[in-house]
Order: sequence, then C-alpha cells, then structure tokens
Amino acid sequence: MEGSVDTRSWLRCYRCWSTDLEVQVHYEGIHKIDPESGERADVVDEVQEAVVQCLECMHDQPHLGFKDGRVEPIEDRWERMIAGTPWVASCTVSVEADDVESCSGPDAGDSLSFAAFGEHGTREFFTHVRFHKHDGDKIIVHLLVELYARSQDEATEVLEDAARGALTLTSLAEESRPPAATGDDLH
Ligand SMILES: [Zn+2]
Repeated sequence: MEGSVDTRSWLRCYRCWSTDLEVQVHYEGIHKIDPESGERADVVDEVQEAVVQCLECMHDQPHLGFKDGRVEPIEDRWERMIAGTPWVASCTVSVEADDVESCSGPDAGDSLSFAAFGEHGTREFFTHVRFHKHDGDKIIVHLLVELYARSQDEATEVLEDAARGALTLTSLAEESRPPAATGDDLH
C-alpha cells in the first residue's frame, strides 16, 4: 500500500533526506514452550530495541521508531527535525552531582550529556561536553549542542524543555543544512 505524501514526508533521513534507511532490531524474549508441539508459545517477557539508520550518511534517526514490524514517526519530534535546520548552541546546564553516574573515564561524556539533557542529550542532539566544574552539590556542564529546529525560538524551547537543570545559553546560531542525498530514487 502506497502511503500519502503526508505519510511519507517523515520516512526519510532528517539530515540528508535520503529514503535509504535500515532498521537494526535487537530482540530478547522469554517464551513458554508448548508441551505438545515443542514450539515457543506465550511470551513471558520480551525486550525489543530498534535503531533506524540512514545508509547514505550513516546517522541514527531519532525521529523514527519501530513498532509492530513498521517504522513510525515519533510525535513532537519528526516535523521539527524534518522541516528544521541545524542549530548549534553553546550552553551550560547546572545539574545535581548525584544525577551524574560518572564524570571521568570513557563514560563521562555520555553520563554528563544524559544528566544535562536526558535522552535528548544522548539520542537526539549531537552533544559535545567541553568540560565540567564541580560547585558544591552541583556540577556545571559546559556543552556544545547541535539540534534541529524550525526557528531560533523553537530551538531555545527544545533546549529549555530538555534541560534537567538550570540552563544558560551563551550562543545559538543556525548552521546550513548538510547536502541532500542525490536523488531519492537511488537504490
Ligand atoms: Zn542521511
């Protein structure tokens, strides 16, 4: 079944607009065994994780989810990411030191990004932690963040909503969009 133009506008890479996408599905399941046939039967427990990736530019697609065998847009996110342009913010977020799992070693960048912006920091934004400072019970995380938005106001709003502590924006500038993939019909 061919979807409408509306339906298909989100089914593409948010960065280069390529429609050459791939989903990596990791599935873990525990099933009852049917005593007659030996087949796996009722699900006792299951975990499914899926990541959609663009084969053109190799980026993850955080505006797309995978449910019941089909890729679906993530509401509140896909329109902004598909119609938006990249914005780069220089900012600090002041978080509780207790909310940072580790602030040194190989996981420090991810831990500090997650403490600052939650899942947005690790899944959606391109987040680069420049450095961090301890201040009593707080940690001040200094970051460079790239996110997609349709306007400066929207970019600011997304950052403010995602921040898990006091946010200070030092600068916010619009970047040019990465080049579009050459032709949507390439295989
Ligand atoms: Zn792409």
